[in-house]
Amino acid sequence: MIETKAYAAQDENTPLAPWTFERREVGPHDVQFDILYCGVCHSDLHQIKNDWFPGIFPMVPGHEIVGRIVKVGEHVKGFKVGDLAATGCLVDSCRVCENCKRDLEQYCLNGNSQTYNGLEQDHKTPTYGGYSNTIVVNEDFVLHLKEGVDLAAVAPLLCAGITTYSPLRHWKVGKGHKLAVLGLGGLGHMAVKFGVAFGADVTVLSTSPKKEEDAKKLGAHHFVVTTDPKQVEAAKNSFDFILDTVSAEHDFNMYLSLLRTDGVHICVGVPPKPAQIAAFSLLGGRKSLAGSGIGGIKETQEMLDFCAENNIVSDIEMIDIKDIHTAYDRMEKGDVRYRFVIDMATL
Ligand SMILES: [Zn+2]
Ligand SMILES: [Zn+2]
Repeated sequence: MIETKAYAAQDENTPLAPWTFERREVGPHDVQFDILYCGVCHSDLHQIKNDWFPGIFPMVPGHEIVGRIVKVGEHVKGFKVGDLAATGCLVDSCRVCENCKRDLEQYCLNGNSQTYNGLEQDHKTPTYGGYSNTIVVNEDFVLHLKEGVDLAAVAPLLCAGITTYSPLRHWKVGKGHKLAVLGLGGLGHMAVKFGVAFGADVTVLSTSPKKEEDAKKLGAHHFVVTTDPKQVEAAKNSFDFILDTVSAEHDFNMYLSLLRTDGVHICVGVPPKPAQIAAFSLLGGRKSLAGSGIGGIKETQEMLDFCAENNIVSDIEMIDIKDIHTAYDRMEKGDVRYRFVIDMATL
């Protein structure tokens, strides 16, 4: 077994603290890589606190993982020792269901293996994430990274990046489309970058007027303060798509009124409570309310390659792992531009 250093939560009431555990030996189809950086996702905080469902403890969070390969199994073909490597939200899936066969492992019908707070495909071995010094992953769930990329700033692409890239690709958002990005946080700032790169006319919708300057710096063409009734009125019936990254409660009916006929409101954020939606908000203008979750492995690789070719990375703030609780506090207040990344050398 491989002795592994980590930061873990022992239960939902205990702060993260140093912990040592064992990862499996490198199997014939496995890749082991030492973790250099790991992004801090808002879902890390939700999961260690049991906000969504009872978690598996001890829990080692982290699913925006990048590093360098130190060992490969004898049957591994796509990777060699010394290569850069990355892993996102998934480390395995059933591979035989109709969704897995369509490269949609994120929607595996038999339950995929989440990178942490999940179970391997034996449905009993817990998975442990990237707040650790090394990881062993089946090669089919390891992503390639090009040498020379800004590794720390690439890490958030593995969750925040693919979560916004995948729906924009699925709905073929691009030239001639008006895209509104709702919320300018970790997900939102990536959505702006992708929307602009795909050629859409991008508007940021935000409750906070002070984010306008940042939105424009990120490439957004317009900015609407959603607490200003005049600006909201002027934005009615104007967008083809709204990419909704907000994880707090909000009024879907108001946002649906900003869509043009046949517009689509796509949810990627996860508010804590179910929302009230009036049928009239949808049928007047034949509108759709949709959702999308992360992305499959093939598409994640495509996204990483697209980012490398187009110089797209996340805007990050690097932290030492001992400062993770301060980072969580600031993340809860929305005080991060736009993703914390842990320098794993500080573990
Ligand atoms: Zn995430
Ligand atoms: Zn499957």
